[in-house]
Amino acid sequence: MTDRLPVEPLRVPERTPIPGLPDRLIELHLHLGGGVAPHILWSMAHEQGFKLPVRDYFEFVDLVSSNPDKVKSLEDYLRILHEWTEKIQSSPHAIERAVYEVFAKEYRGSLVDTMELRFNPMKRNLGGQRDLDHIIHAALRGLDRACLEYRLNGGLILCLAREFDADLNEIIVDKAIKYRSRGVVGIDLAGTEQNNLELRADTVARFADMFARARTAGLKTTVHTGETPNTDADGVIAAVRHLKVDRIGHGIRAAYSAEAMRVLRDEGVTLEICPTSNLHTRAVADLEEMRFVLRTFIDHGVRFTINTDATYMLNTDLRREVEVLVTSGILNGDDVAACFRHAREASFLA
Ligand SMILES: [Zn+2]
Repeated sequence: MTDRLPVEPLRVPERTPIPGLPDRLIELHLHLGGGVAPHILWSMAHEQGFKLPVRDYFEFVDLVSSNPDKVKSLEDYLRILHEWTEKIQSSPHAIERAVYEVFAKEYRGSLVDTMELRFNPMKRNLGGQRDLDHIIHAALRGLDRACLEYRLNGGLILCLAREFDADLNEIIVDKAIKYRSRGVVGIDLAGTEQNNLELRADTVARFADMFARARTAGLKTTVHTGETPNTDADGVIAAVRHLKVDRIGHGIRAAYSAEAMRVLRDEGVTLEICPTSNLHTRAVADLEEMRFVLRTFIDHGVRFTINTDATYMLNTDLRREVEVLVTSGILNGDDVAACFRHAREASFLA
């Protein structure tokens, strides 16, 4: 006889098996601005005394989430980040907590044990009021804590912005190089490809030197391109040829260009596909177009990985992204296994 209640050992929660999905997952394309749970953003906003244009918490959840009524383009999607989540994350304390929570939650929820998380530090310094080094150090502290506590392999990618002047982007590259040995693993270029901001042979030069400098310093590189229906595959080709990127964020438009697919395959550039995000921003019209895009990549030997882009903002997680592609018959178990193998191979983490 014992007076103790029987104690079941704690286990990882049971999950519906998904064909081809490994036990531990890897995420390569997640933005800090879209990855923090609304209740944490809410708490961080109150800690800083932000005046919020909502009556209660549930209106706040709507404010920081994407949905098909509110988001009809990449611009609409980026506006949510710009107006709210980035601002709320703009203090050392807030960004440390934000980074920590994203890594910890994705491990607990989806068993993501390897992750590259990206953000633009200059969109977290309140237009210059905060010191960039303080912001980046704080983000690295959050990364460090999460990796230690949950035994994760993680790194940060600093995003440049298409809409920034070159001198601001140069500063971000300087910071990425400065913190390379501390956990910054690469740089990215984000923002909509419009108003002459698309990567074409004639406009790409303004970024080529920055990417070369980052590469020489040992950083890896990726670029958002080919993400919107109004662009073509030229940006994908320019990113590979002129910026010599290791990976491309989205790159959906490449499926419509035999040349772009050949360049990607020949140069061994891996695409970071984010299915729900691509549906929300209308990068693809529907799952049928997603099927065409991904099957075309597979048929042409173009490597891609599956990612979330923004877990909470899109109400998704990495398991769900894979599940959508499998249940809709777009990918089979072998394809899923290949995506995660490619992700490990294309990771910027050592
Ligand atoms: Zn993205």
